[in-house]
Amino acid sequence: MSAAAQTRTVRTTCPYCGVGCGVVAEVENAEQRVIAVQGDPDHPANFGRLCSKGSALGETVGLEKRLLHPEICDRRVSWDDALDHVADRLGAIVAEHGPDSVAFYVSGQLLTEDYYVANKLLKGFIGTANIDTNSRLCMASSVVGHKRAFGSDTVPGCYEDFDHAELIVLVGSNTAWCHPIIFQRMRKAKEANPDLKIVVIDPRRTATCDIADLHLALRPGSDVSLFNGLLAWLAQQGLLDFEFMESHTEGFGAAIRAARESAPGIPAVAAACGLSESDVSQFFAWFAKHNKTVSVYSQGVNQSSSGSDKVNSIINCHLATGRIGAPGMGPFSVTGQPNAMGGREVGGLANQLAAHMDYNDPADIDRVGRFWNASAMADHEGLKAVDLFEAVLEERVRAVWIMATNPVVSLPDADRVRAALQACELVVVSDCIRETDTADLAHVRLPASGWGEKDGTVTNSERRISRQRPLFAAPGEARPDWWIMTQVARRMGFAEAFSYETPAAVFREHAALSGFENDPDHRLRDFDISGLSGLDENAYDALEPVQWPVTGDDTLGTPRMFEDHLYFTPNRRARLLAVEPRDPVHAPDAEYPLVLNTGRIRDQWHTMTRTGLSPRLSAHIPEPFVAVHPQDAARFAVSGGELVRVRSRWGSMLARAEISDAQDRGSVFVPMHWTAQNSTLGRVGALVNPVTDPVSGQPESKHTPVIIEPWRPAWHGFLLTRRRLAIADVEYCVEITGDRFLRYELAGDSAPADWPRWARKLLCDAEPGKAEWVDYSDTRAGRYRGARIVGGAVESCLFVAPDIGLPDRSWLGTLFSRDTLSDAERMSLLAGKPGRGMEDAGPVVCACFGVGRHTLEKAIAEQGLNSVEAIGSCLNAGTNCGSCIPELRELLAGRSG
Ligand code: SF4
Repeated sequence: MSAAAQTRTVRTTCPYCGVGCGVVAEVENAEQRVIAVQGDPDHPANFGRLCSKGSALGETVGLEKRLLHPEICDRRVSWDDALDHVADRLGAIVAEHGPDSVAFYVSGQLLTEDYYVANKLLKGFIGTANIDTNSRLCMASSVVGHKRAFGSDTVPGCYEDFDHAELIVLVGSNTAWCHPIIFQRMRKAKEANPDLKIVVIDPRRTATCDIADLHLALRPGSDVSLFNGLLAWLAQQGLLDFEFMESHTEGFGAAIRAARESAPGIPAVAAACGLSESDVSQFFAWFAKHNKTVSVYSQGVNQSSSGSDKVNSIINCHLATGRIGAPGMGPFSVTGQPNAMGGREVGGLANQLAAHMDYNDPADIDRVGRFWNASAMADHEGLKAVDLFEAVLEERVRAVWIMATNPVVSLPDADRVRAALQACELVVVSDCIRETDTADLAHVRLPASGWGEKDGTVTNSERRISRQRPLFAAPGEARPDWWIMTQVARRMGFAEAFSYETPAAVFREHAALSGFENDPDHRLRDFDISGLSGLDENAYDALEPVQWPVTGDDTLGTPRMFEDHLYFTPNRRARLLAVEPRDPVHAPDAEYPLVLNTGRIRDQWHTMTRTGLSPRLSAHIPEPFVAVHPQDAARFAVSGGELVRVRSRWGSMLARAEISDAQDRGSVFVPMHWTAQNSTLGRVGALVNPVTDPVSGQPESKHTPVIIEPWRPAWHGFLLTRRRLAIADVEYCVEITGDRFLRYELAGDSAPADWPRWARKLLCDAEPGKAEWVDYSDTRAGRYRGARIVGGAVESCLFVAPDIGLPDRSWLGTLFSRDTLSDAERMSLLAGKPGRGMEDAGPVVCACFGVGRHTLEKAIAEQGLNSVEAIGSCLNAGTNCGSCIPELRELLAGRSG
């Protein structure tokens, strides 16, 4: 059979952020897992576009690092043994210590079907609500805000609203990097309508400011002051929609009193937020002028000890002006994870029950119990993420089953989470990756299917349910999460309730529960997909993307909620809430004078288990960094490019200093992605304070007092090699995936006396006769450069210096794509840079086309390129996903690098 005949086309969904882009995958060789991906032109979330992460999916589906077989205490076992063991141990712990001694910690990476089975097993049959999810870290405050305002966890609008808006307000959201396809849609909307105003509210000047008409770099945590001020000012100007409020809302009196008291006028707001009065006035004036306003918010709002109040302060302004339930307007929470919304649908948070029902209504508990025919219905809320791991440490929880997530990296005070798991009686980890910081502590490892193997559904930020379809068979003995839990449930004696044989069967039950006693003529609950409960296997397989609710015979779904202005509160009115500004719990002080803000970078996802496999994604930002304002850098004697110790009361890490006036003074930013698997001291979670929002339980990941100190080791170095190495006794070591090589950034407190010897020992001359070395060593100056050449090709090279003055790594990396070095390349090898006439692209800027900074700078200078479009025509950069366009603009303005 020809290769072409074997090619199979599969429509599926991207596994990364909450935009939920449709992907068309051409499976060119299922056995070798060779695929080509492009955006699905028919998917309404992205209309054919993919960002750099989505475009690189093909580089992340290999079997490297996969967990392929069940293991107990590091020993391979059969599935039967593993499942029996988990069922027996869970049963025994429940029998001895009660159901609340067991917990599940799950993930927005799970499919809805996986989530549903986990939630049902724990809440209906084991008898505890101790199931929480890493979505707690992402959008729990938005859930609270929605429920307090609307009586339900409803995102009112849809992405199409960006096309109709006159004003888009982005609050605490680096959309350009974290939700790139939404950002592209906003950019397009602005090109189509130059009158569209975009306001970015963020302490940092991020790439998102590239499309902003106004950037409000407010003081961290002061969002409630700003939106209370807006509400009070609109009232003072007589610009509120009282007719709307009288007909459809309640709570205005208390809300406006609180707003006036805390933010009585523009000068007070400006002072509280650290903004100029003219900028505040401009924002307020635009908000007043443009009825069609969408307020988009994300982790910058949610990850706060007052995150829930921030959300309600934003929603208040929409309710008071009637800006909801119509095209081009509404508050819009965008989720970080691919299936954070699906998790909320099934009840994957410890304070939810199922299908948007809750523990605060006994009728809900009764209803769900009857529907499931539950044998041990949990009757009270469970432990939220931070409390859950605290309970593990205190032995109130004795068994924890962690699925598709890595809490030893991502939770705050992460070293305490590690200590909790080290002491826990039973730690079960289901994951597709063999070695993670969390899986390293597991007693039982269960191999789960990954993206490209999974079969089920996810729901994106605009309530759109899409199918993830398999491209390949699961490797080794990997199995879907829903299957694994179903098998354990059967062994625990719940076979009848867990008789599913396919994900479609799980989905049908989930859909039926959403419509159970949810009268279509007087719907009590917003989440209702009962219209999909009759899908047979084929119809489920062919399910097109659809926005819930989906009821009755109408399977087209619901793009926009609240068009009828009937909310899900008892009196069907939306609620304005009285909210007051509160300072973050831990203020900076003399010992820890700076505020640590954490977040994502453009080309990595979570703990890098997948995106870290892609050379082009790893090329953009290779190491953990700390962004510092120039004045703070001067104050703490930190220079750009050098290594810095970032320290808080909870822990410390090492990161490379990036000095930038885009960073606000008094704050530093560190990305969240690095783990103990790829760095010695790169886990920012170890520093983050474990304070949470009192209502939502979401950690305050954007505000931890820290100090930065230059770390001046005895030596700096880097190593490029074709083999993975175990490098011990080096204080700073970060592993980075390159194209046919691995790169290690290194630094140490004491330098070896004999570098050539150290290099030879590390690079293990297994076949001495076959390798030749070229070296340069200056012991007194502390410099060493050495390369090991095998068969005419460079096999590894090590560069060491007493300071950070080392060659650029990008050109050296290209030598690993050669089977044989040319004479010129050999001559230039130890110089670390190309000789005359040889090209050096420089660090990657455009990940899609692999265009480097030097190439761009050269083309801009030599060819007179003066626009992003001109760069695109010349080099393709910026023409695919568009994620690099803000950096291209910086280069055009001469501000980069
Ligand atoms: Fe995936 Fe990027 Fe789309 Fe997010 S924006 S779903 S990461 S392609």
